[in-house]
Amino acid sequence: MKRNVLIIGAGGVGHVVAHKCAQNAAAFGAIHIASRTQEKCAAIIASISEKQGPEAARGIGAHALDAMDRAAVAALIRATGAGIVINVAQAFCNMTILEACIETGAAYLDTAIHEEPDLICETPPWYANHEWKRREACAKAGVTAILGIGFDPGVVNAYARLAALDHLDTVASIDIVDINAGSHGRYFATNFDPEINFREFTGTVWSWQGGQWRANRMFEVGREWDLPVVGRQKAYLTGHDEVHSLSANFPQADVRFWMGFGDHYINVFTVLKNLGLLSEQPVRTAEGLEVVPLKVVKAVLPDPASLAPGYTGKTCIGVLTAGTKDGAPAEIFVYNVADHREAYEEVGSQGISYTAGVPPVAAAMLIADGTWDVRRMVNVEDLDPRPFLAILNRIGLQTFIRDSGGDRALTFA
Ligand code: NDP
Repeated sequence: MKRNVLIIGAGGVGHVVAHKCAQNAAAFGAIHIASRTQEKCAAIIASISEKQGPEAARGIGAHALDAMDRAAVAALIRATGAGIVINVAQAFCNMTILEACIETGAAYLDTAIHEEPDLICETPPWYANHEWKRREACAKAGVTAILGIGFDPGVVNAYARLAALDHLDTVASIDIVDINAGSHGRYFATNFDPEINFREFTGTVWSWQGGQWRANRMFEVGREWDLPVVGRQKAYLTGHDEVHSLSANFPQADVRFWMGFGDHYINVFTVLKNLGLLSEQPVRTAEGLEVVPLKVVKAVLPDPASLAPGYTGKTCIGVLTAGTKDGAPAEIFVYNVADHREAYEEVGSQGISYTAGVPPVAAAMLIADGTWDVRRMVNVEDLDPRPFLAILNRIGLQTFIRDSGGDRALTFA
């Protein structure tokens, strides 16, 4: 019997996940979407009807849910008969949703590491503070949990594993590079949830180098990259989820994450941070109102999903893996290029939501057909990347490689 899917979160990424599940409905049973605001789920179903036709949207369920309430999540999993839960709500909800999956036996997928609202940048490795503590419980319950299966983290972890499996004999360094060379035309906006976005950059920048954690400040270390399609781009050493599992799985390699930022972003970010407006700690106004500055900034910034209609340009996200092949030094860059306008034309979303939302659906398809139904908790690089990348090639995210032979598309049997 085909497994029902429950998507939790009806934001920018949830919109893409729902569209892609509907496009690949033959792989699944019933599809359900749940979020704090039920109307947002209904709006996504209307978008599926408009883009794919009323038949594709028929029967998709819309539910109001507070995913911080474990019992409510478990009750909805049971009510919808969900066998697979795709968590694309805020990262604060990871542990309640994961616990509900362990309780009910449903497979669990997410795209970001768990965060506690009042803590920023915990001790590395971050996965060990929360998710990895439930490894035994997953194995005992026979529950498949795939952590961090967006693009980065997610596809980039698969790219690193692919390099180690098919292209190199030893791995000395893994550099993940994320460049968004697109333009949304607004004064200032973040491409996904501003709260989570800023929290990534206000703490210590952790990287794994020389077999230990190294701490830097944001924008302290910058480097120019010359990348396919997007050309020469400056990117900065940044703290990011995937460093915290890749360093455990490739302890001998240096693992770094680089994100591209324009001068305008850096200026606005620096002003907001220095004023204290990116703080996650509550403050009290003269009127006695308690507010979290970061949540106020989120409330006044554009909703990331609203950037989609006017967004132009492309993203290039990839992994430069260096090491040896047949005794000689070798390096390869495995990457994807996504186009904001094409994403909008296909599903009504911008490219960042698109690159994050397609991968969990490919993974859900592999759980549904048994290929990735491993009945334990894993990070993406623990799994064979080839069936996953083969599906991504088919459903919207083509993998390319740049090596001594130039640039070419990769295919997988
Ligand atoms: P949005 O802010 O656009 O959407 C978040 C959604 O989650 C909203 O619909 C919100 O509901 C819902 N939500 C939040 N809290 C709860 C709750 N307690 N119960 C139920 N629903 C809740 O974010 P994005 O779609 O941009 O991002 C979603 C996730 O994807 C984030 O965790 C983000 O970090 C991750 N991400 C991962 C990427 C990757 O490549 N790995 C890239 C981009 C994002 P409502 O609006 O109704 O309040």
